[in-house]
Order: sequence, then C-alpha cells, then structure tokens
Amino acid sequence: MAKLSDPITILKGVGPTKAKQFAQLNIYTLQDLICHFPRGYEDRTRLVTIEKLEVDKPACFKAMVMNTPHTAHIRKGLDVTKVQVADRTGRLNLTFFNQKFTTDKLRYGQEYIFYGAVSGDFIGYNMTSPVFEELDSEPVVTRRVLPIYPLTAGLSNASVLKAVRQALAICDPPAEILPQSVREQYGILGADRAYYAIHEPASMEEAEMAKKRLIFEEFFVFSAGLSLMRAARAGKKTPAWHNTDLGGFYGRLPFALTGAQQRAIAEVVRDVQKGTPMNRLVQGDVGSGKTMVAAAAAWLAVQNGKQAAMMAPTEILAEQHYQGLCKLLEPLGVRLCLLTGSLTPKNKKLTRQAIEEGAVDLVIGTHALVSESTVFADLGLVIADEQHRFGVAQRAKLSAKGEDPHLLVMSATPIPRTLALIMYGDLEVSVLDELPPGRQQVDTFLVGESYRTRINAFIRKQVAEGHQCFVVCPAVEENEGVELKAATVWAETLQKTVFPDLKVALIHGQMKGADKEAAMASFARQEADVLVATTVIEVGVDVPNATLMVIEDADRFGLSQLHQLRGRVGRGSAKSYCILTTHTNAASTRERLKAFCATTDGFKIAEEDLKMRGPGDFFGARQSGLPVFRVANLSCDLTTLKQAQEASAQWIDREGTADTAPAKALRGRIAELFRRSQGTMN
Ligand code: ADP
Ligand code: MG
Repeated sequence: MAKLSDPITILKGVGPTKAKQFAQLNIYTLQDLICHFPRGYEDRTRLVTIEKLEVDKPACFKAMVMNTPHTAHIRKGLDVTKVQVADRTGRLNLTFFNQKFTTDKLRYGQEYIFYGAVSGDFIGYNMTSPVFEELDSEPVVTRRVLPIYPLTAGLSNASVLKAVRQALAICDPPAEILPQSVREQYGILGADRAYYAIHEPASMEEAEMAKKRLIFEEFFVFSAGLSLMRAARAGKKTPAWHNTDLGGFYGRLPFALTGAQQRAIAEVVRDVQKGTPMNRLVQGDVGSGKTMVAAAAAWLAVQNGKQAAMMAPTEILAEQHYQGLCKLLEPLGVRLCLLTGSLTPKNKKLTRQAIEEGAVDLVIGTHALVSESTVFADLGLVIADEQHRFGVAQRAKLSAKGEDPHLLVMSATPIPRTLALIMYGDLEVSVLDELPPGRQQVDTFLVGESYRTRINAFIRKQVAEGHQCFVVCPAVEENEGVELKAATVWAETLQKTVFPDLKVALIHGQMKGADKEAAMASFARQEADVLVATTVIEVGVDVPNATLMVIEDADRFGLSQLHQLRGRVGRGSAKSYCILTTHTNAASTRERLKAFCATTDGFKIAEEDLKMRGPGDFFGARQSGLPVFRVANLSCDLTTLKQAQEASAQWIDREGTADTAPAKALRGRIAELFRRSQGTMN
C-alpha cells in the first residue's frame, strides 16, 4: 500500500512531464490527487437503441460495425474516416476527423459501446466523433457516470481520471474525521465510500451523496476550527485598561461623532476594561467614519501605556491613515510612525528600532508590520483595516507580537449576514449604520459608448467647477483580443487627444509603492484634474474634492467593487456622480448594473453580489481570508453549513481538545485548512 503523502510520480504513466502539469493544479501527492474533485459529471449510464437516439442529446448505445472504416485524405491536415454501424432498430453513419489511429480499432462485424450525439442537419442519422469501447472492457468513457475534472494545458480528463483511479487503488483515502453519531444523525456517507464515490460514482445520486459528505466535512472542519479559536481566546487574560477617559481625544475632533460612532466607541471602551482580549469587528459602509473608532481605540491604548499597530491592505491607504491620524493625534502627544515595504532599508531599520524601543506609540503600516523583523516593545492593540483582505492567519501573526493584545478589525465591505456569520464567527460586531451628516447620495448612471462625448463634456464641466474626476479602467495594459479599457493607454488618450489642456494623472497596481503614493498624494493636493486608475483606489482613499467617478467597462467589476469605487466620491459637500460605461448588451448584465444604479444600500448590493458571483469573487480571489473550500460553496450550501456548525459545536464541547486519534486528526485538518487559506495581500 502507498501513503497519501507519496508523490504522484509513483503512479504508472506519471513521469516528469505529467507531474509538471499536475503541479499546475497544485497536485503533488496522492492526497492532493484524491482531493482533486470533479467539477461536474456526465451521466453516461443510459443505454439506448439507435432508434431512440435524440438529436444533440449524447447517449450510450450498443451497435455493430457494418463495414470496414474508410479513411479519405481530404487535404493536408484533414483525414475523414467514415463507417456505418447498426443495431436491430436502425443504422447510423459515423464520421471521425483525424482519428485514423482510433478508428483503426473498429473491426467489421464486431459490436461496441458508443457514446455520442446524433446531429440533425443531415437526411438520415449521422454522428460525429463518438467515443467507443469494447463490450467486455472496463467502462472508462461509456456506461458510467463520468467525472469532469478541472484541467490545465496538456492534461486531459482521461489522464486525470486514470491517475485518480490508480491512486484510489493503491492507498486508503483520508481518514474519517466525522464521528459516527454525526454521520448517522445527518445521513452522511463514510469517508472511505465518499472519497471513492466522488470520483467513481455508481449513479448521479451517489455522486450527490459523496459531494454532500465532502461539503459537510469541510464545513465541519472549518466550524470546529473557529470554535477552537473562540475557546482558546475565552481562556486568555490581558490586563484591563483603566484609563478610559476620552475627553482629550474628543476635544481635538473637528466634528461631532455620529451616534453610531459613539456607540461603537462605547463598546470598545467596555471591551478593553474586561480583562480579556477584545475581538471586535467594526462594520460600516464606505464613508461611515470607521477610522475615528480606530483612532479612539489607539488613543485608549496610549493612555494605558501600550503600543497600537494599525494594518492597512495597501500602501496608499496606510499613507492616508498616517497623514490623517498624525493631524489628529500628534498634537495630543501621540508618537506615530509609518512602516511600509517601500521605505528605504535604512529607514525601515530605524523605524523598527524605534518600535522595539517603545519610542513610538502608534505604528501604521502594511503587511510589513507582520514581518518577523518587526518587534514591539509592548503591543496592546492591533487594528486591521479592510479586514476581509487579510487572512485569519495574518491577523493572528500580528497579534502574536504582543501578549494577547486587543483586536479591532474594520470592514467597509458590507458583508452579507450569512457570510459574516462564517467569517466573523469568532468576532463581536459593531455596526456603523449611520453616515456623517451632510453626505449626499451619489447619482449613478449606466451608459453605452454612444455617450462618450457627453461623458467627456461632463468631466470638463466638473473640472471647470473646480472639482476632480476619477476614471477607473479594468486593466492596466491592453491585452490583445480583449477590448477592455486599459488604464495606461486610456490615460494617454485622454491627456493627448481629449483633454490636452487639463492635467491627467495615472495610477495602477503595477506601479512601485512610492510612485503610487506620489500619484495619489499629488491628486489629493489637486495637482491633477483627472486620475485614471485601476482598482488600487478601491479601498479607503479619501479625496473630498473629487465629484465624479467614471467606471469603464463596469460589467467587468463585481457589484461590491463598484460600490467601493463609487464610495470614493460624494465625500465632500458638493453633489457627486458616478457613470458606468459598458459595451455589453446582455440583458442580465445590464439589469444587474441598472439595479446598482438604483440603490446605495451596501448590504443589499453585497447580498446580490454573493448570489451572483459566490464569495470567492466577492472578495477577490484568494484575498478573502476565507478558507479555500474545495467542494463547498458558501452561497449555495448554507443548510449543510448550519448542520455542520451544530454538529461541530457539540463535538468540540465533548472532545475538541481530547487526546484521542480522531480529535488529533481533526485538529490536523483544521490546521491544514487555515494554512491553505492564508489570505494574500495586494
Ligand atoms: P470609512 O473608513 O468608514 O470609509 P472614514 O473613516 O475614512 O470612513 O471617514 C470618511 C470621511 O468622513 C473622512 O473624511 C472623515 O474625516 C469624515 N468623518 C468621519 N466621521 C465624521 C463625522 N462624525 N462627521 C463628519 N465627518 C466625519
Ligand atoms: Mg476606511
């Protein structure tokens, strides 16, 4: 017997070339292979007679070859083979293109099982390139439910199938981690059967059963992981903060806090007095003023002799927080510093030294904060902005730099309740459901290319009134064959031919951090009228003088992303606008975008997005910090999720920390799931 950890190269037919192709799919070991689940199935179990074949509906049928296959060489690169087959109900002409090698196997007078669909565009029956097998052969492509695998260039479905079949024959599938009582209660297949049946189901029903089991398993592992994290934290102690007077901080504010901000801050104050680490999410739509809640928390940390760290997903955002918080907190005696990847090595070193010596109170930065070489003198508070961009693991890594520091995470993405339950199952939530006074609704329009001159005139009008405009494009550079507005090209066109008299600037994610910051800062100083950008400006950037957001090829963005982008305008006192352009005529897409134009409710938009695109896309692939589920789909499998949550909670209560083999196996799987899910940052 082989082990799950053995490399796939021990399989027959998997040499270096195949191994490389499998590596493209992140498949290295037998376990990876066995956990490479089909994305769908083709039901080829139905065996019909020729008479019963329906046009364009592929099916299996048994038929006899009625003549010797004849191959005609039509021209270079095109051979056509014709052969006639029949059963007692009828005859059928088969045509194959460039498959002489295959058709040579068909013997006159012999019966085979074929799988294919008849085409209806000829008089009489005709079928193109069916697959076939001998009657006594093991069913591979006929007479079975055929799994359809995610593939990569050079790797065929048949070769994945063959490799998986071999792997399942020479090693045991992953161990059972679901307790028998749970399996019985929810009617769930055992692991040994499920891992086999997901690849080789006897019927479509069995494929469904196997899938259900594996989804349940993923959710069970995930929920159990969250429960363990929660339990671990509940047992933690951290010194209670006693200095909770915010008078000095309030005295500096240029505006009155909204009721929602006050409530959230009060909740933070209560948390830090408890003597257990705070673990709070501040959730509020763009512009609801989450930064003030963070600032208040940082102020509290400093009042209690602790350091605070604030992590932002992009350098632009970190820079902006730094500028804003300096203005607010420096006069109060708070010592701030900025730590990002684009500092010179020397400055980075100096900054890190200051942090380690306790010479700074509030550190604002990007993932550079998480790096091993950042050491804090006494970290008491971790703030993560735009939380959904960080993995659970990154959050934990930063927290590990202090002794159970308080944690405050902020998210501008209005996360649908269903999803919040999962992502933040281990967090308490404060909702900022109130915008600062004086905010105006951003009027949003959907237009086609015929509006181009009007859009340009509108940009000109905004600029003439002293305002600035964003123009967001879906790509950085022009791709051949894809008609997307590319930021670089479009910026040049706008500057050279459309607005030669205005100042057009450019910002995109492939620019160096320092250049990005310079471009953004310059735009904020009103040195440019129009900023052509990619989605790097999506999060947090604050330029109150900007009143127009043009989003090119808006159909290329998720609704939540559009909502974030739209939130970049309407931040000052002037009336603001958002214009979506699209080339598409697809009714569903246009409807989706029209619905977006009609609502400003971030939660509604998020729910819609989740339904439409699923959570992966919703948060940007692999940026979510959500576990990367292999089979489960957060937007459709909610019933199973609920069941798995129930089951895992009970089980964790009983034996989550036990020293038994199943408990250990489960903990191993939890660690693996969260490792796989470490969010990446951009
Ligand atoms: P968020 O991070 O929630 O999107 P910010 O914290 O960046 O929002 O705040 C958006 C803008 O609103 C900032 O310019 C900020 O100074 C301002 N702001 C925050 N709170 C208030 C308030 N209570 N009254 C007026 N303006 C506010
Ligand atoms: Mg913000």
